[in-house]
Amino acid sequence: MSCSKNVIVYGSGISGQGAARVLAKRGWRIFLYTDYSCKIAEELEKTLAATSGMVICGNFSKLIGSAELMVLSPGIPTDMPSVRLAENSGMEVISEIELAYRIYKGSLIAITGTNGKTTTTTIVGEMLKKLSVPSAIGGNIGLSLSEEAERLPENSWLTAEVSSFQLERVRSFAPDIAVVLNLTPDHLERHHTMDSYSAAKKRIFAQQTKEQVTVLNYDDPIVKRWAAESKGQICYFSRKKNLKKGVFIQDGNFVVKWKNKVYIICSVKEVHLFGGHNEENILSAIACGFFAGVTPEDMAVVLRDFQGVEHRLEYVTTIEGVRYYNDSKATNTDSVIKALNAFENGHVILLAGGHDKMTDLGLLMKEVKEKTDMLILLGEAKERFHEAALDCGVKGIMLADSFEDAVQKAYTIAKEPQVVLLSPGCSSYDMFKNYPERGRYFKQLVMALNS
Ligand code: ADP
Repeated sequence: MSCSKNVIVYGSGISGQGAARVLAKRGWRIFLYTDYSCKIAEELEKTLAATSGMVICGNFSKLIGSAELMVLSPGIPTDMPSVRLAENSGMEVISEIELAYRIYKGSLIAITGTNGKTTTTTIVGEMLKKLSVPSAIGGNIGLSLSEEAERLPENSWLTAEVSSFQLERVRSFAPDIAVVLNLTPDHLERHHTMDSYSAAKKRIFAQQTKEQVTVLNYDDPIVKRWAAESKGQICYFSRKKNLKKGVFIQDGNFVVKWKNKVYIICSVKEVHLFGGHNEENILSAIACGFFAGVTPEDMAVVLRDFQGVEHRLEYVTTIEGVRYYNDSKATNTDSVIKALNAFENGHVILLAGGHDKMTDLGLLMKEVKEKTDMLILLGEAKERFHEAALDCGVKGIMLADSFEDAVQKAYTIAKEPQVVLLSPGCSSYDMFKNYPERGRYFKQLVMALNS
């Protein structure tokens, strides 16, 4: 990909700016679209100017006829009129991960799923550091995949966290190891139907060949069936079943069984991450490590050390015997269900609500009824969540006037052995810039209770 043609890089966040830098190096003339919600690095603006490119905003349809390629950032819906216009004019429209794939010469792992991507990608990243070759992680996780792809040598491993949005516009993308963790309704405001959401996810393995590996969740009824659609070698993982081959839990250990050999990695009890969902993340990470050539011993060291990722069932502190957990990243109902499940003994005081994604709440409220002693509702979603909770017969419900009020209410009622869990099941945009801001504020409020 080296020439002096025009490219429109649509979106100027981390992915967009990364793509622009990489393409500029390769001699492309860049038009970098921005709505100014992200600050564009000064050095990048200079680079663009030096190649007679520029930052653009507003309507750019006039440019479309003169560009060869459009690179889409994950946040740009692919049915935007300007994307359609570009395609109708014969321009190639690709996502940033496709660009990364085209320039990368090393071995690629790609991880998708509704939930667990960041946790799994982070674990795999740690495992690959044990290899003697360079490695990196990137993609949805906050690092531009194309820049990492550009930087790494041929003999290297790159692990990409990829969302359905990024998969919508891939073409030749064929990772050496593709992982699908799970599939539950989410982002339907953008994909509209589960079929189109599934179709986007399946693109992670659609171009794989038989030398490559597709890692699929045996316990997820939808994902399990996708084996029939992949040309790659299927490696299932399961928390529940002793598989003939694959990665699973046997006698309390994480094990790999492949080509009639069994490799014991470590005991489930030795790892800090807890909850069935995290066992699934670990199993899939082990599959990646195994096929990338990380030894069972090295994988065990990583798993024993790994403390989890911030805002995902993150332990905050204990106050008067009550443990507090920050799960601000739980922005959909499935992740709240998983979080509640992780507390086997129940007695959860759950803080939920925020910007409502309008998905069905039936399954969530069933779990809430079983596992919580009190449901404290907050944010824009509070009324709809309240109705759903009442419909399901949830008994202990409180409505909070503010985020601070919710934390205060939890503190006032919580007694050992209860735990206080922020797991909103909603995005944060009604009160915060994003989920990390919400999680940090929660931790700040909790720590203030302790002082
Ligand atoms: P993603 O990057 O896919 O959003 P994360 O690892 O950031 O996934 O976790 C997001 C939320 O989902 C957190 O609340 C976490 O506790 C929960 N979670 C993590 N792994 C899983 C899983 N395998 N299944 C369901 N929920 C999960």
